[in-house]
Amino acid sequence: MGSWQHVLLFGEVLLRRCGGVTAPVGGSRTLVSRRQLSGGESETLKQRRAQMMSRGLPKQKPIEGVNQVIVVASGKGGVGKSTTAVNLALALAANDSSKAVGLLDVDVYGPSIPKMMNLKGIPELSQSNLMKPLLNYGIACMSMGFLVEETAPVVWRGLMVMSAIEKLLRQVDWGQLDYLVVDMPPGTGDAQLSVSQNIPVSGAVIVSTPQDIALMDARKSAEMFRKVHVPILGLIQNMSVFQCPQCKHRTHIFGADGARKLAQILDLDVLGDIPLHLNIRETSDTGQPIVFSQPDSDEAKAYLKIAEEVVRRLPPPAE
Ligand code: ADP
Repeated sequence: MGSWQHVLLFGEVLLRRCGGVTAPVGGSRTLVSRRQLSGGESETLKQRRAQMMSRGLPKQKPIEGVNQVIVVASGKGGVGKSTTAVNLALALAANDSSKAVGLLDVDVYGPSIPKMMNLKGIPELSQSNLMKPLLNYGIACMSMGFLVEETAPVVWRGLMVMSAIEKLLRQVDWGQLDYLVVDMPPGTGDAQLSVSQNIPVSGAVIVSTPQDIALMDARKSAEMFRKVHVPILGLIQNMSVFQCPQCKHRTHIFGADGARKLAQILDLDVLGDIPLHLNIRETSDTGQPIVFSQPDSDEAKAYLKIAEEVVRRLPPPAE
């Protein structure tokens, strides 16, 4: 059996263990949720959940070979979390070429790292049966998007999501990394808790746009990290200002400094502002992230500066 077949099998086993099943629909693999399974099986799921809860909190265990984990979170979807995670990973590597950086996409509902990092393909398995990350622009990447069809809807319930995340945390051969940037799913549910409680996180950065509706959820995200004792490195205000390319007039489409006000309330730092800019959107969508493709642009410089601020706030790396 070829290594890609091994990984497909791995994906299938992973999904079955997570409680999902794969069924060929119109020639492609589609995940079928427990919702569609029988009452007896959903009873089993309930019992399993109760069993897991009764075991208490999971023990934190470092990811083999990874020195520091930085999670990138947001209360809401669509605020630029994945774009920030990608460019932060590239900026960490660009600021210090001696550092090995990885990017783990645990946004299992909507993995965008394959597209943003222009990566496709099925991870090979190492001799010890761990998945090998795919590499582009010098960054080692792993994503659920490598294991399921791009168009397959992920219709999983909490327990399956947590199991899938656990596999992504534990069954990847990262080699040696100085920093692993983790692109979290949006929100503050089981998935976010699962990451925060399973691995030691050196620091979290929270991305928000400046308008109230996004900030409200960013605040929840900050409070969740505090509850589970994950140090928050600071907030990133994304899409803070739009400058008209013709007349250069600057407009604060989503408000001027909402994240700054929230940071004050929560006694957190603002790590930096990223403007709303067509180049950021276009380079993300075409898999040529701006820090890689236009490193001298003001937009890329904003990410490079944020990466410096992140490193400054991390605890000293373990020797
Ligand atoms: P999230 O991970 O929070 O769901 P994404 O990173 O996927 O958000 O971003 C959503 C969309 O917004 C993408 O099309 C992305 O290219 C775009 N985007 C993100 N940040 C910016 C920005 N600063 N300027 C312009 N477009 C942006």
